[in-house]
Amino acid sequence: MCDGGCSIHGNEIASIRAAEKLVKLLNEQKLKFSHGKLIIVPIVNQVAYRKRIRGKPDLNRTFPRQKKQAATQPLSAALFKLTQKHHPEWYLDLHEANGLSQKDAKVLGQTLISNKGNPIIPTMRRIMKRMNRSIKVKNQHFNLRLHELPGSSRTAASRILGVRAVTVETGWSLPQKVRIHYQMKIVQHFLREAGIVEANKVYLSGKVRTVSL
Ligand SMILES: [Zn+2]
Repeated sequence: MCDGGCSIHGNEIASIRAAEKLVKLLNEQKLKFSHGKLIIVPIVNQVAYRKRIRGKPDLNRTFPRQKKQAATQPLSAALFKLTQKHHPEWYLDLHEANGLSQKDAKVLGQTLISNKGNPIIPTMRRIMKRMNRSIKVKNQHFNLRLHELPGSSRTAASRILGVRAVTVETGWSLPQKVRIHYQMKIVQHFLREAGIVEANKVYLSGKVRTVSL
């Protein structure tokens, strides 16, 4: 079992922080592997991250759109090559977006996204329900979207590599701490579903605050 998690846009801080915190928890063996391999790329675009910008051009439109087509930027090419090499069963792409999907169906803040027909959809639905049960503020509930986004890492992983691929989008308008909390919780739900970690708890920070799933 293999899993990948990454954050592509330099200004989506909660995704990056959550990925970094997970690396720390794993290094400190607070979050324990039961089996498998996990690849985490907390920051794909270091230059964009330093400037706290999305990145130009938008890397998440430069992944291959068809088989045998190459990514059009060195960073997306490198990430896609890494994904191809390890061919994970699961692929998580961590992002942040405008708005709250619960209030406005057109926005992507607080959504889990995959491609139509992707085998991850039943798992996504289950995790979304579990997340929403734990979120008291209804406006912050997650919604599920199925969307083709040519050139995005998720659509490339899903359509070209046939991987269980999902994009996690937290809403910018929420406090950073809350967004990191959601990102960490969602990733750990997926790790558990993938059989990579056995813990029955979710670890939310380097200080290891645990909450039951
Ligand atoms: Zn993004």
